[in-house]
Amino acid sequence: MDEGYMKALQDVRTACGFGFKVNSAYRCGDYNAKVSKNTRGQHSTGEAVDISMKDRYKRFQLLQKAIECGYFKDIAISKTFIHLGKGNVENGVGVY
Ligand SMILES: [Zn+2]
Repeated sequence: MDEGYMKALQDVRTACGFGFKVNSAYRCGDYNAKVSKNTRGQHSTGEAVDISMKDRYKRFQLLQKAIECGYFKDIAISKTFIHLGKGNVENGVGVY
C-alpha cells in the first residue's frame, strides 16, 4: 500500500472513532483484471481500499469524514461498502 494513502486512511479512521473491516486493498494487475472492469485500477497501485460498512449511520459518517479529509477524489458508495480511492480531479463521488 502507498504510504501517503495509508496516512490519509488512518486520519479518516481516527476521525470516525471506529474500526474498519477492509474487504479489498492492494490487488496485483492479474487479479484486478479478474474482479474489476476498472482499468484506472488504483487497487493495483496501493491507492484504494473497499471498506465493509453495513451500518448506514457509520457508512454516512465514513463518507463524510473521507470527503472532509480532501485526499480521496474517487469515492464510490454501495449498500454494504465504500470504495475509497486516491483518484484525481476527474473522479468524484458515485453510487454503485
Ligand atoms: Zn474498490
